[in-house]
Amino acid sequence: LVLHFTALVFARALAMPNLKPAILTFKDMLRYQAALERVCQDMELTGFWPLMTIKITDDTTPEMIRMAHAAGAIAGKAYPADVTTGSAGGITDFYADHLLPVYATMEEVGMVLCLHGETPEKGVSVLDAEAMFLTRLRWLAETFPKLKIVFEHVSTQKALRCVWDLPDTVAATITAHHLVLTFQDVIGATLNPHHFCKPVPKMGTDRYALRQAAISGNPKIFFGSDSAPHLISAKESADVPAGIFSAPVALPVLAQVFEEEDALDKLEGFTSEFGAKFYGLQPNIGTIGLVKEPWTVPETYGQFRPFMAGETLQWRTVEIGA
Ligand SMILES: [Zn+2]
Repeated sequence: LVLHFTALVFARALAMPNLKPAILTFKDMLRYQAALERVCQDMELTGFWPLMTIKITDDTTPEMIRMAHAAGAIAGKAYPADVTTGSAGGITDFYADHLLPVYATMEEVGMVLCLHGETPEKGVSVLDAEAMFLTRLRWLAETFPKLKIVFEHVSTQKALRCVWDLPDTVAATITAHHLVLTFQDVIGATLNPHHFCKPVPKMGTDRYALRQAAISGNPKIFFGSDSAPHLISAKESADVPAGIFSAPVALPVLAQVFEEEDALDKLEGFTSEFGAKFYGLQPNIGTIGLVKEPWTVPETYGQFRPFMAGETLQWRTVEIGA
């Protein structure tokens, strides 16, 4: 179902490695890739390419990077230990000696380092965890000047400013939901577990900065959906996992946001061009259309509740050719 909604709208997606068990080696990766391709075939989803990744952990070696790269991995994702879904076994110390040759090998072979940028330090509030990660980002960018780094799902003005000021080897992605939500929408009048994601949406000033960055036309800032579905039974439990299922609504939501900001002409660069360019990929050949035609987002898709469930959106996606 998740793949279905992703493949309907997107021609490519980074297949993130934070599964259980995690995708750590090229063998894990090839197995996962084959499984995704099998599902695509069964569901007759043509024209969708998963871009494969491995998870960078304290046990990753330069050899594992080389093998994964040779097998087609486009990126390695580093999660700080225990900050988000599937990040157990993540990195405890980004400066650790044994990781230096790993970063250096990624730099050498041209594998992108994707970061979930929240500090793994104990006792740090979720509201501060992203800002407190930035010293690590600066250090990585300075120590490995050719390493391409994507600071994913940026949620604060501070992180944006940091990425903006660093060299062009460093980019940031923004999700559709971080352009819409603030902390208030997660735990305001009522607590809404369906708005709970990591990094948690922050303040109005942060959301304003994110919107301005998204429409800026700066190629270092591009769309990353971070569509992360969890069963409704899990989202409405006493132990709510972080993640928002945004794939079915991401493009209509973005169109709405860009229209509100009077910047629809900047939408294509943000969603379709800058990211591909940063990853060194050709732009997609196919096109997807957006028409202004109100529709109400279903309350559920199977056992999942999508972002914006029950809300009326002004734009819808239409297929206009492959
Ligand atoms: Zn993440």
